[in-house]
Amino acid sequence: MKTEIKKITPESIREAKKILLDGGVVGIPTETVYGLGGNAFDDGAVKKIFEVKGRPNDNPLIAHVHAEYDLSRIIDYDPPYAAALRKAFLPGPLTLVYPSTGKVSPYVSCGLNTLAVRIPAHEGAQALLKEMDIPIVAPSANLSKHVSPTSAEHVYEDFEGKIPLILDGGECVGGIESTVCDVTGEIPVILRPGLITREMIADMVGACGEYTPDLKKGEKVKSPGVLYKHYSPRCRTALFTVEETDKASSLIEQECARGTKVAVLAEKDVLQTFEKENVVFLDLGETEKEMAARLYGLLREAEKVCDFMIAIEPKKTDGVMKGVLNRLRKACVSVDIEH
Ligand code: AMP
Ligand code: MG
Repeated sequence: MKTEIKKITPESIREAKKILLDGGVVGIPTETVYGLGGNAFDDGAVKKIFEVKGRPNDNPLIAHVHAEYDLSRIIDYDPPYAAALRKAFLPGPLTLVYPSTGKVSPYVSCGLNTLAVRIPAHEGAQALLKEMDIPIVAPSANLSKHVSPTSAEHVYEDFEGKIPLILDGGECVGGIESTVCDVTGEIPVILRPGLITREMIADMVGACGEYTPDLKKGEKVKSPGVLYKHYSPRCRTALFTVEETDKASSLIEQECARGTKVAVLAEKDVLQTFEKENVVFLDLGETEKEMAARLYGLLREAEKVCDFMIAIEPKKTDGVMKGVLNRLRKACVSVDIEH
C-alpha cells in the first residue's frame, strides 16, 4: 500500500472521509499529537487500528467528535460539572470519560462500560469531524510503545505502507496527549495528566481528584493505558534528576570513552552546564509550553542521532510539567510495568 501525505484541504478531507466510511484508517492531526483515525461505529475499523499499532487489546481508545456533536448519542449520563468543563476547556486538550450508551463498537472501550470523548481544537480535525458527523477513534499515531507523533512525517515513519493517507495539519502545538479525566463520579478525577491541569479543573468546578492505579492483585485498573511502557525512543536511555547531574556527567564521560554516541536531553539552562564536546544537545527549551511541545520530537531525534540518551528531569514538576514528566519517565523505563 502506498502511503500519501496530503495537506489538509476540503479535497483531502473528502478523500479521508471516503476511506473512513469504507472502514479504513487515516492519520489525522490534532493540537496534542497526531492520531490514527477510524470510524468508532465500525468494528472492523477499530480492530484494524489495534492491529496496525500493535496496541494491547485492553487499552481503550478515545472517540473524537466535533464541537456541535450530539453527545447523547454516545454517552449515557452527563453530570452538570462535565458540562461546565466542556464550556471552559473544549474544544481543547481534555478528554472526558463518561458512562457509555454502548452504541459505539465494543472494541473501542475494551469491555469497560465507559467511553472517553474529546473535542479537539485543531481546525483541520474539526473540519474532518464535522464532515463525518460520527465519532472517530484516534489513538496516538505511533507504533505501540514508540514515541507519539507531533508531525505528519513522524506518522509516516511508523506507518509507511500500512495506511493509505496522512492528513498534514502542521506541527502539533500542544505536544503531549490530552489530559484524561473521569466524569462518572461525584467529582472529576484525572486519569492521565496533560496540558489541562488538575488545578485548572479544580478552579473551575470546585474539586478534582487524581487517580493512582492500585496494582493489588484482582484490582480492576480504571485506565489501562496508564500502566504501559510508552513513548520510548529506540536507543538506550537513562534518566536523572537535576540534583544528580554529577552522576549524569560521569556516566557521559564513561560512555564517551567507550565510543558510545551520547545525547543529553534537558531544559536549556541545565543543558548548558554540560560539556558540549562529543555529545549531542537536545534542548527542551525554557517555558512549560516549549518543553511539552518539543519533548516527543526530541525523543524521536534521539534515536536517530545517538546510541544512548541521557535525560535530566525538568526542575519544575507541578502543573503542566506533571504531564511532561509523566511522559519522560515512561519513555525512559526499560521494561513494561507488571500488572
Ligand atoms: P492514546 O489515545 O494512545 O493517547 O491513549 C488513550 C488513553 O485514554 C489511554 O491512557 C487509555 O487508558 C485512556 N482511555 C481511553 N478510554 C478510556 C475509558 N473508557 N476509561 C478510562 N480511560 C480510557
Ligand atoms: Mg498513545
